[in-house]
Amino acid sequence: MRTAVLENNKFVIKEMPKPILDEYGEGAIIKVTGCGLCGSDIVKMRTGLAKNGSVLGHEVVGKIVEINSKTVFKVGDKVALGHHVPCFNCDYCRNGNYSMCRHFKSTNIFPGGFSEYIYVSEEHLNNTVFYVSQSLSDVEASFLEPLGCCVRAVKRAKVYENSKCLIVGLGSIGILMGQTAKVFGAKVYGCDIKTDRIILSEQFGFEKSFLSPNINDLKLQVKEIAPIGFDTVFLTAGASSSLDFAVNSVRDGGSIVVFSSIKDENGFKNNEIYYRELNVFGSYSPAPKDLEDSKTLLDERRVKVLGLSTVYNIENLNEAISDTISNKIMKAYIKI
Ligand SMILES: [Zn+2]
Ligand SMILES: [Zn+2]
Repeated sequence: MRTAVLENNKFVIKEMPKPILDEYGEGAIIKVTGCGLCGSDIVKMRTGLAKNGSVLGHEVVGKIVEINSKTVFKVGDKVALGHHVPCFNCDYCRNGNYSMCRHFKSTNIFPGGFSEYIYVSEEHLNNTVFYVSQSLSDVEASFLEPLGCCVRAVKRAKVYENSKCLIVGLGSIGILMGQTAKVFGAKVYGCDIKTDRIILSEQFGFEKSFLSPNINDLKLQVKEIAPIGFDTVFLTAGASSSLDFAVNSVRDGGSIVVFSSIKDENGFKNNEIYYRELNVFGSYSPAPKDLEDSKTLLDERRVKVLGLSTVYNIENLNEAISDTISNKIMKAYIKI
């Protein structure tokens, strides 16, 4: 089967043996139709976390071609999935920190979504694989996992009716995050340094977004909308200056949700958090319930994703990565 394998910071298409269901016993083999390119794939590649020989990709849509399972899934089902499964039993899970569960971190699909076929376990089928309804396109369905991340972040932030949220960074995750916060009743605003992203966010239902090269500029623009600052600020941008945006645009007593890996970490200032009673917390990967909620939002089209993705063939994965890094595109969908 054709597989994109990492070799010295580039993906090379190689012929790999197809996973054999009999070797695993239970589970399913999925023929991948496409897979979203996630920011975390790029981070893993750039930081060396993914070694030579790795196969990445986890925002998978595909069709079940072989199955041995006690679940209701059958051959021919079109599915989308999450790649990690919690144990539901450890101290992390019991406290709702499913994505910190050690079992969660150790489970995965094999070999990775940028491949013609993958193996998913019975545990995956039971918890993180979802049937895709006819009305959803493959590209839409590939947003199951990234939207699940946003559902989790918005739940963790306890976003409430009519609260004011600011999304710092209007990439694809920023756009999904804003729409999700809106589903939870918030008034959603955004800021970015690119005009096209400001326009796009407003097309996706943001109240208003601000082109803001620096924090003082933003403050001036939001003076009337959020005179004491925003109740919740979601950090989805990767530039270290975005920390400054978050701390200086959140109201006293408000929350900052970190959903971004920042290379140059200058951190949050202790006394700022203390004297201003700020809630600062991270949100990482979705639990099965977040994926289920994500699927409902996609099915009911309460969160819109069409128009965010640019489609590439697997042979052009490297181009998709460089176009994502240079912000030429919002999100890449890799057709397998
Ligand atoms: Zn992802
Ligand atoms: Zn656990």
